[in-house]
Amino acid sequence: MSDLSEADRFLLEQIRSGNADGWAQLVSRYQGRLVSFARTKLRQSADAEDLVQDTFLAFLKGLQGFRGEASIETYLFTILRRKIINWGRGKKAGLCLLQDVMYGGKGGDTVEQAADAPEQLAADEPTASWYARRDEAQDLQRSALTSALRGLIERFKSSGNFRDLQVVELLFYSQLRNKDAAEILSLDEKHVGLIKHRCLKEIRERIGQAHPLHASALSEDFEPYDALITEIWQTQRLSCLKRSTIGAHLLGSLDDPWQEYVTFHLERLGCTFCQANLEDLRRQTADDTSRTLRDRIMESTVGFLSRP
Ligand SMILES: [Zn+2]
Repeated sequence: MSDLSEADRFLLEQIRSGNADGWAQLVSRYQGRLVSFARTKLRQSADAEDLVQDTFLAFLKGLQGFRGEASIETYLFTILRRKIINWGRGKKAGLCLLQDVMYGGKGGDTVEQAADAPEQLAADEPTASWYARRDEAQDLQRSALTSALRGLIERFKSSGNFRDLQVVELLFYSQLRNKDAAEILSLDEKHVGLIKHRCLKEIRERIGQAHPLHASALSEDFEPYDALITEIWQTQRLSCLKRSTIGAHLLGSLDDPWQEYVTFHLERLGCTFCQANLEDLRRQTADDTSRTLRDRIMESTVGFLSRP
């Protein structure tokens, strides 16, 4: 189970063989979004930069043990988030702003678990391993469930069923209660329960089709899988937006159902990872604009410089 793009894989190969250019490329590719993420959680921007530096160091140290279970971006975000939580114990550090707003500060065991879930999977220094050791059966179960979830999300997107996607995203990624998810989407609580039930059924069927032997081990009652689905959804950031999609959103070039969903994920749900990407892209665009402007000014003015 690997979530690495070709570009990521190539870059990692270079870095593993000690190529400094490759490393510089990786740092410059991810540094901006990590700093944006850290700045939303920390008051001093110097602290944010220190923690991002630590994060890259931890990444490099743990590189040999990194098996690519998540994208480089997700892996870096997870290390950084762990460091931020260690840095300021007790501060709000939900995966999305909605968690902080709805349950922040007031107990909420499930939310605490949600906030901690990815951290249990990545030690502070991820040199040991990205995941705790598991046996083969668990690996198979996890990878079957991950593929089924990806399939489900893909179907929602390709059929334009963003409402159901939002429901399960609120339940599994943000760990909202049915009642709260219903309120946010202006749905009946029973309706939310029904959508969840249908999704769990489809997940079971997808696993059954892909792994007929494995499916017989799955009981009708899927409840025990809720925690595992949440954990996978959060650590793999299954419904997070592609950077190119966030870029298109910034340019206002997305078509409507998509545009609406992207706005939901970024603003209503307030996914802190995707917001960090948005912030980074905004800054880059601004930099590009100023660079372009500077180039234009230089071009049009340089000829006048040494004129007598
Ligand atoms: Zn996201």
